[in-house]
Amino acid sequence: MTTSQSDEAPRPNSRDRARERLRSGQLPREPPIRRLAGLSDGTEQCAVCDERIVNLLVYRVSFDDGRTLHFHARCHEAWLIERRASTDAGP
Ligand SMILES: [Zn+2]
Repeated sequence: MTTSQSDEAPRPNSRDRARERLRSGQLPREPPIRRLAGLSDGTEQCAVCDERIVNLLVYRVSFDDGRTLHFHARCHEAWLIERRASTDAGP
């Protein structure tokens, strides 16, 4: 498996998208009930950047309402960061 470092580090773009989708409700703010990390099978679509996750680590994240979302490692990190930021800022 060959991944460059830039693929793993959160990009500003991922943070922007994650923040936008948290605000619009496309991404949940509640903590997941289950989180599994593994190698993608090439069919998952990232919930943050909408790109297919091919040949990379994928986070499969399940929620109380039955939703399961998939994330690139960097997009998952961006979601966590923005979720925390928005929770701290909220009431
Ligand atoms: Zn992504």
